[in-house]
Amino acid sequence: MQLVVLGSGASVFHAQRASAGFWLQTEAGSILLDCSADAPHRMAEEDLDWPNLDAIWISHLHLDHCAGLAPFLFGLKWTPGINQRKKPLTIVGCTGIEKLLRAINDAHDYKLFDQPFPLAIKELSASDAAFGFELIPGLNCEALSTPHRAESLAIRISDGTGALVYTSDTGYSEAVAEFARDVDLLILECSFYRDKPTPKHLELADAMRIAQRAQPRQLLLTHLYREWDQVDLEREAQKLWNGNTIQAQDGLRREITKTRAEDESARANGESGDEPA
Ligand SMILES: [Zn+2]
Ligand SMILES: [Zn+2]
Repeated sequence: MQLVVLGSGASVFHAQRASAGFWLQTEAGSILLDCSADAPHRMAEEDLDWPNLDAIWISHLHLDHCAGLAPFLFGLKWTPGINQRKKPLTIVGCTGIEKLLRAINDAHDYKLFDQPFPLAIKELSASDAAFGFELIPGLNCEALSTPHRAESLAIRISDGTGALVYTSDTGYSEAVAEFARDVDLLILECSFYRDKPTPKHLELADAMRIAQRAQPRQLLLTHLYREWDQVDLEREAQKLWNGNTIQAQDGLRREITKTRAEDESARANGESGDEPA
């Protein structure tokens, strides 16, 4: 899988950080993880093939995660060549997405649902037990409720090349840590450095406790408010967990590849890329 960070910021505007959005290219197709108001423009800016996007995942209804949905559907209608598109676009995520889209649509009869290709919306009820579904045919995913909003969900995605968890916004949760155990990439919110004003987000110490339990191969900390501008995030993270922590930046690209099984068999065979031969 390939990841492109579209927005590493949160709900308060930041000159270098758009609000939430992550492009994911999987073996089964392309996915947008959360769609802030900034995300459609950021996909164009990153020269991604957004007119052929296969699926959109919406974690919850805070506007820094879903406010770009209606503009994206509106823009798609007027995209040159879109009439040739026949494959479906699927929007999957928390409960309430369809109500939100219909309310916007009906306010001005935008005809957001009249597209030249099939448009499907699937809402998943929040559940304390992880449950499986296919975001696009052939792509195995799981969802788990998070302690942020009644409807908020984390997602785990696995294809033949690797496994990823995107928590989106969350408070501290051992269930979320278990859900992310041993993934190749954990995209974890880390809204605040310390003294967080709410239990419904994470500060650095919480995020690193989750990393300790989950032991991801790589940890990408995102949803960064402006207080992070004055902090060396990766250095502070290293003090609390000695794994591989990356500070999310808009435009960052990462290849997500497998891991432990491969690493361990390579080790057993005496192949180690990191040590001198
Ligand atoms: Zn948010
Ligand atoms: Zn939120």
